[in-house]
Amino acid sequence: MNASEHPAPALDVVIVGAGFGGLYAIHKLRQQGLKVRAFEAGDGVGGTWYWNRYPGARCDVESMEYSYSFSEELQQEWRWSERYAPQPEILRYANHVADRFGLRDAITFGTRVTRAAFDSAHSTWTVQTDKGESVTARFFVVAGGCLSLPRMPDFPGRDSFQGKLYHTGTWPHEGVDFSGMRVGVIGTGSSGIQAIPRIAEQARHVTVFQRTANFSLPAWNKAMPEDYEAWFKAYYAARREKARYSSAGIANHPTPDKGALEVSDEERQKVYEAGWLHGGPGFTRIYKDILSNEKANQTMAEFVRNKIRAKVKDPAVAALLTPTDHAIGTKRICVDTDYYETYNRDNVLLVNVREHPIEQITPRGLRTTEKEYELDAIVFATGYDAVTGAILNIDIRVDGGPSLAEKWAQGPKTYLGLMTAGYPNLFMVTGPGSPSVLTNMITSIEQHIEWISDCLRYLGQKGIRRMEARTDYEEAWVRHVNDVADTTLFPRANSWYTGANIPGKPRVFLPYVGGHGVYRMKCADVAFKGYEGFTLQP
Ligand code: NAP
Repeated sequence: MNASEHPAPALDVVIVGAGFGGLYAIHKLRQQGLKVRAFEAGDGVGGTWYWNRYPGARCDVESMEYSYSFSEELQQEWRWSERYAPQPEILRYANHVADRFGLRDAITFGTRVTRAAFDSAHSTWTVQTDKGESVTARFFVVAGGCLSLPRMPDFPGRDSFQGKLYHTGTWPHEGVDFSGMRVGVIGTGSSGIQAIPRIAEQARHVTVFQRTANFSLPAWNKAMPEDYEAWFKAYYAARREKARYSSAGIANHPTPDKGALEVSDEERQKVYEAGWLHGGPGFTRIYKDILSNEKANQTMAEFVRNKIRAKVKDPAVAALLTPTDHAIGTKRICVDTDYYETYNRDNVLLVNVREHPIEQITPRGLRTTEKEYELDAIVFATGYDAVTGAILNIDIRVDGGPSLAEKWAQGPKTYLGLMTAGYPNLFMVTGPGSPSVLTNMITSIEQHIEWISDCLRYLGQKGIRRMEARTDYEEAWVRHVNDVADTTLFPRANSWYTGANIPGKPRVFLPYVGGHGVYRMKCADVAFKGYEGFTLQP
């Protein structure tokens, strides 16, 4: 049977994930008449917000912006209760979207995609799951999330621990009652910084094992002011449009025209104070050169260091909590409620595991090179195999050739973070080389899904069965992503943005730092030029 006689597959698109990316992909692609099916590892929708149920979990992009913009009715009718939505509310929202747009029947829950094989003779992907199912479709869309493969450091003795072990990214659905317990928390990234204050309120004692101090800004979270919500909703279309052409996909972020060193010390201090009182992650964008000029960055870093010193009563603890090894904003900035204040509590101890690394987990607790700590529970807030982890967790091959993991052994290579040369008809949602984790994820997800949906419509209209990124365009894009990153301070930090948190992961700056708006225009241009840089075959 040759390709033209081969029956068309029953599905047009198979999708990995039913988080915000997968849900919108199902909706959008179905709207244009495509037959789609999604596989989701969790037993429900919501992705990150399905798994991350640790105490204190909430989004640090404001609720009015961390939400879909594709439906005016949806954005008008949904009501957020707080400035920064807590995890249960975001999960309710994801469920509401799934029901409102009738998306559930496209999703197979509790099922992981393990393999995907492209057959060039028929231009189809055959996708296999851990439940033994195999489906074939013309296109394969991976929307598995940028921070979805939890990482647990391989400390010896983990299985010997007689208490309970948790990872923030796979938190028990029934919740955890830490009352009366001695709890150890490993990790002080965004997850640890959110969880530690809430755990400390409940537990008998908390020991925080910190390797690197992080910069954290106050959230000043509060109940959603009704007038603010009404104002935002009245101007929603314009706010969303502004977000779409902004650097971080967030309309409320500052759009500075000045550098930090262009103003007097006094003015800068005033601006920082006002920014601090506003709170949230937009703080690092107050001046245009904070993330590119070391001296400018120092002025902001020192301002925040002084805030930490003022909050923490014990000067030795304050010194340990004060970041000195990276420029502010070059590791993902954290946003907190009472994080630093928590170290003034009598039941909280900060341990420096940079000086005395964790040696092993013991039956009774945890031993550093200095001493053993007795614990009833250990919380790993140790992060993720970010950006590439979920994609490479699937064995992806074309005609039995090398896996995508082999192709990316020295670091991911993509064209626009959307496709990778040699793997036709495979689209990545917020893949490496796209702005993704440097932006409001929902803005970036919507842009990618809309680009993919326009692209699939175009391919349908032109009778094209196979689309593939060209190697020369991919190489140029990878170079561009690196060149832009090298104009900033980002690559200097040992962060998950560069893969530095995973032993053996190639050190490559993973997201595109050129800004969401600029990137959106590049993608639109590529489409306008008939998908320039892609090979299209009938
Ligand atoms: P993370 O930022 O990667 O932090 C992991 C922490 O674990 C770091 O403090 C790290 O120390 C520590 N760690 C890892 N291995 C260790 C070891 N062997 N010994 C001691 N310490 C170790 O992970 P995360 O906190 O889960 O956050 C990941 C990302 O998820 C965030 O950056 C953010 O993008 C997203 N997130 C967002 C929110 C929100 O919207 N509010 C909340 C949570 C997470 P080192 O720094 O020394 O490596």
